[in-house]
Amino acid sequence: MSCSAEGLAAALREAAEVVAEHRSELVELDRVIGDADHGENLSRGFTAMVAALETEVPPTPAAVLKLAATTLISKVGGAAGPLYGTAFLRASAKLGDAAVLDPPLLIEALRAALEGVQARGKAVGGDATMVDALIPALSAAEGAAGGSVAEVLTAAAEAADRGAESTVDLVPRKGRASYLGERAVGHMDPGARSTALLLHAFAEAAR
Ligand code: ADP
Ligand code: MG
Ligand code: MG
Repeated sequence: MSCSAEGLAAALREAAEVVAEHRSELVELDRVIGDADHGENLSRGFTAMVAALETEVPPTPAAVLKLAATTLISKVGGAAGPLYGTAFLRASAKLGDAAVLDPPLLIEALRAALEGVQARGKAVGGDATMVDALIPALSAAEGAAGGSVAEVLTAAAEAADRGAESTVDLVPRKGRASYLGERAVGHMDPGARSTALLLHAFAEAAR
């Protein structure tokens, strides 16, 4: 894909498919340490997003991400809706009126997304949240900055996998899972897993 508005819309459609495929996995992860709705929440949000994109693909990458953000905020609910919504909104704000995303702009957008999630949710690395997938994803993206958009996203997704895996051994300090404390150790954070899945979907769309 080229990272035009149309290309981004295609990436979001791919993400919606991946979320649908992994809906029950995300529900099961959230059942163990939360309230079993993460897969449902995301699936509802991405389905609504695809429907909105069917009506009309906005003219710029920034406008596409803004539509994604507002849909997620209004449809996902829970903790993840506002967090992912903020991530997409902050990323959108970085893009200005650019017609196409290149690797440096993509990395800036990813950084803005992470900062947005942290500003909103106050989680730091090691709290066992989606932030533990996003921090290594950003570092890996920066490390792959010399490559193509697909290479940057692939590096980010693979690092996010390792970040999500790292949450298994952590005591959650934010969100619902924090109520369980030590009892949550041994289980992967659902939001970290969904972050890795989304990055894989974007990478796949970019290849
Ligand atoms: P809820 O917990 O309200 O049911 P979801 O199940 O959709 O919402 O999302 C839970 C995920 O949200 C967690 O797995 C975690 O990754 C993420 N999360 C929760 N609180 C925070 C926070 N303060 N900062 C970052 N991520 C968070
Ligand atoms: Mg939940
Ligand atoms: Mg919930």
